[in-house]
Amino acid sequence: MKPNTQSRAGRRAASDGARRAFEERLAAAKRLRAVEDARFRARQAHGKLRRFVNSNFRRDEVIAKLALRRGDCNRCGACCEILFKCPFLKKHGDGTTTCGIYEDRPNQCRLFPIERRDVEELRGSCSYYFIEKPIKLERAS
Ligand code: SF4
Ligand code: SF4
Repeated sequence: MKPNTQSRAGRRAASDGARRAFEERLAAAKRLRAVEDARFRARQAHGKLRRFVNSNFRRDEVIAKLALRRGDCNRCGACCEILFKCPFLKKHGDGTTTCGIYEDRPNQCRLFPIERRDVEELRGSCSYYFIEKPIKLERAS
């Protein structure tokens, strides 16, 4: 083989190797994203179950947790798209949402978010937040 034919073959082999390495890195990044997504969805599913149980059967615990909640709902609808989009969710042109069964919505919807981890399980952000401890009001002297 002539020298310049050899160097062309060498360059092609190097470029094939770089492309394969890039494709492998891309495939590894996709696998990692898929695993992270599956973990997040599992966490969301666990959160749905937790909120159902808490909001329907653990009234006192819920009251204590809600004492740490601050803020207001901005009607973004992120909590209505946990795992899947609720069929009763109505989206509006201005970015707000409403519930198609607002008066009859389930307890876990009425009370969302009950605790900090609820807002951490959203794809999106909630305008509620949680403080660490209940604030004790001191009697004025
Ligand atoms: S995610 Fe939070 S701010 Fe958005 S609709 Fe639900 S409760 Fe309201
Ligand atoms: S029932 Fe209403 S509040 Fe509950 S997830 Fe569906 S749209 Fe949202």
